Order: sequence, then structure tokens, then C-alpha cells
Amino acid sequence: MSLEDVSTADIVAAPLETLSFVLPARVTFSRNVFVPVTNICRNACGYCGFRRDIGDAEAHLMGPDEVETLLQQAKNADCTEALFTFGERPYEVPGFLEKLEAFGYASFLDYLYDLCKVAIAVGLLPHSNPGVLTFDELERLKPVNASMGLMLETTASVNAHQGCVGKEPELRVWTIEDAGKLRVPFTTGLLVGIGEGWGDRIRSLKLLADLQRRYRHLQEVIIQPFAPKPGTRMADVASPSSEVLLRTVALARHLLPDDVAIQVPPNLVEIAPLLSAGASDLGGISTVTVDYINPEHAWPDVADLGVALTERLAIYPQYVRAGWYSEALAPLIGELADKDGFRKKRAETGDR
Ligand code: SF4
Repeated sequence: MSLEDVSTADIVAAPLETLSFVLPARVTFSRNVFVPVTNICRNACGYCGFRRDIGDAEAHLMGPDEVETLLQQAKNADCTEALFTFGERPYEVPGFLEKLEAFGYASFLDYLYDLCKVAIAVGLLPHSNPGVLTFDELERLKPVNASMGLMLETTASVNAHQGCVGKEPELRVWTIEDAGKLRVPFTTGLLVGIGEGWGDRIRSLKLLADLQRRYRHLQEVIIQPFAPKPGTRMADVASPSSEVLLRTVALARHLLPDDVAIQVPPNLVEIAPLLSAGASDLGGISTVTVDYINPEHAWPDVADLGVALTERLAIYPQYVRAGWYSEALAPLIGELADKDGFRKKRAETGDR
């Protein structure tokens, strides 16, 4: 059975050997730096090892100088993307705004906006993941972001999200849809193994497929396996099996339009079988920082992955070619992108 001819039920239940997978024509990745601006968050997801309470000794808010030093280090290490990551709406946590005021800001979005401008000045394309945003907030951040992201995770109500106001699926769908209305190249994804079932995964993917048919703004959908973290409510829950991941990747490829790349994280999974099931992107691979969400899983060296990779930017080629970016980003994208919208080869940049 070829993947094009099967039903979702076949992909979920048929013996794997009866499903015929093919390797993608091209496998992409981007060289990024992970900038964990703050680990303070209004939510408290059952699987999260990143978030800290505001009074915790490990709670942090990076200052502008610290961020700029990291960005410069990344530029020197040949990165092209600054991945700004945070807890969601940290300013709703009592005490956070006082920390922010120490850096001269009353609004976290103003702070993020300025950090994105610093990244552009350094020569890196910002990609921000601020969690649930309103239409107006997305519109404000769009000119200084090459792309933005929000994991859908799941459309199901799961215990892992108990008490997390921002994990209401409807809110996340609204943000993803508003990004479409604003023509923001967007990254979303599923977190697999947090209590959802096959019906939920199929519903989530069909919803994303519908959004893509309406707005064409989803550049990639990440299929991310849950990874247990010590000290969290889900510390004793097992990660999803490789078979569940493989079937989920195949489902994503089957249900999503062809212009959406399926991304899998190469520090969490064995990539070869997932590439044959329909994945074609490995996401951002950092040569400068660890994956702060899964720090126990080191990034592989791209040269060791055993696959020929094409380097892309934070904004996918089709959106480079279609001009889905602001005037503020145009010079840098012009400098970094080749005629097809991928990253220019070293000889084309003339600087390495
Ligand atoms: S997973 Fe994200 S939203 Fe949930 S607690 Fe952690 S930082 Fe907050």
C-alpha cells in the first residue's frame, strides 16, 4: 500500500511492513541559536522541565547585553536564525514586571520587539515562540520576525494541561489562524504522548490541514515526542514508542497539504525511519546552545546524520520567493537567501 492510497485507519493500524514509504527529495535544517529569554510562565504543564516559579533560584530573565552577546556568538558560529523562546505570557506572573523594569521596560512585547531588532542588526533572522498571542500582538511582532511559532500540541483536553489557561486548544487555534490572516510564515506541531489518542492526533492534523488550505501560512508541522523530565508530574510516563512516532509522521504526511514540511527533532528521535515516513525537515540545529527544552538530549553534528542536508532559513523558501516579510527584514533576507529561497552557499556570500 502506498501512503497516497491508504486511509488514516490503515496508517494507524495496518502492519508497518504493508505501508510503503519513500524518502523525501530534500531534507532541510536551519542553523539557529536558542535564546531562552525567560523560563517564567503562566502555565504549569505536567511535562515541562523548562519552567520555573518566579521565586526559584533558577528562574531567569535574560538582559539585553546577555542576549546580544549570545546572538553575536551565534553569528560568529555561522548561524542564521535567532529562536526566541519563553514561558507563555510571563508578565501575567506576579513579580515578573518588576524584573523587566530593571531593564527599562514596562512591556514584555516591547522588550521582545527590541531583542528581535538587535538580532536583525547582528545578522540573524528572528523566529519568536511567545505562546498564545492576540491578533494585535502578532501584528506588532510580524515586522521583526522572519517567522513565528506556536505548538498546537493537541486539540484534546489532557490532564497534562490541567490548570494551564494557555493550553486551551481553542485559544491556540485562534493564534494559529490569526497568524494565517496576517500572512506570518508559521511553525506549529503536535506533542505526541501527553495523554492524547489516535483520534485526537487525526483531529489535530485535520484541523491544521484545514487552516493551511485556507491561509497557506504553515511552513512546517513538528511531530515532537514527549520526553519525561525528572521532578515533573509526568516524570514516570514513558515516551511514545518509535512505532507511534512513525505512524504519526505518516499520518501528518498523509493529511497535510504537500507544501507543509513535516519536522522531526534529530536530538530526540532516530531520523532515518521518520524521513522515509514523510518527514523532510530537522528543524533548527544549534551549534551554540543546548536545546533548553530537552537539555539532556544533545544536538547531533549535522555532518554525522548520514543524510544529505540542505540549509534553509527561518523563513521557508516559498515565503522568501513570495515576499512574505517586512521591509525591516528585506536586506538581511536578500543577503542570506539564494535565488530559490534556501540559504546561500558560502561561495555566494563571499564572506567565508
Ligand atoms: S511547556 Fe511551555 S507553556 Fe507549558 S509550562 Fe513549560 S514553558 Fe510554560
